[in-house]
Amino acid sequence: MDIRAGDVLEMKKSHPGCGSSRMKVLRAGADFRLSCMGCGHVIMIPRPKCEKSIKSVIRDITDEKG
Ligand SMILES: [Zn+2]
Repeated sequence: MDIRAGDVLEMKKSHPGCGSSRMKVLRAGADFRLSCMGCGHVIMIPRPKCEKSIKSVIRDITDEKG
């Protein structure tokens, strides 16, 4: 699965804290650093675990650098 920093992930489970199911990718590597779009909470999870919980990848941001 091709996931890059800046992508927004629609997760299968919503964040218990705020109910948002969208996470923004801050860093993609062996571990993914994700920021909750609802509350801004940042989490780090291993790539395989992250990929399993992704429902869809939203990439409507056009080639944003950084
Ligand atoms: Zn949240």
